[in-house]
Amino acid sequence: MDFSDIGKRISQMAQEAMATSPEQTEVIRLKGAIRDLEKEISSFDAQVGSYVLSQQLLLDDPYLRQVRSHIQMLQKQVQDCKSQIIQLRPDLYCPQCGAELKQNSRFCESCGMVIVQPGKRYCPTCGSETGLDASFCGVCGTPLPPANSSMMYPQG
Ligand SMILES: [Zn+2]
Ligand SMILES: [Zn+2]
Repeated sequence: MDFSDIGKRISQMAQEAMATSPEQTEVIRLKGAIRDLEKEISSFDAQVGSYVLSQQLLLDDPYLRQVRSHIQMLQKQVQDCKSQIIQLRPDLYCPQCGAELKQNSRFCESCGMVIVQPGKRYCPTCGSETGLDASFCGVCGTPLPPANSSMMYPQG
């Protein structure tokens, strides 16, 4: 619920009430109520729509079949855009599950994969950044694989 909107409407109603008759005030109040109710109804429209789609309801309905295939096409376009971004900036998405990464993430929030930022080295146990030639993690003491190992961070 947008409270700033309500505040605006209340002060607007107060101003209008001073200049109008009781009937008009009541009409304004009722119109406001209709606006609120219609807003609530349209929010259900959207919720019901995604419920029907996510629960795979009404699979035989021709309109919904069309909508579903259109959404699939849009999702494919999203995937295409994502893979183009990954080509440009491989560090923005998880290489394992494709989830978007926050800046300088050490782990993927979706699948927990250790993210290797270029030019940096991390402890495979706790994810702390370590020196490029460190033998042990300075935070948790885990022995680190040799710095020149190409398999520094096995997926787990
Ligand atoms: Zn991931
Ligand atoms: Zn550690």
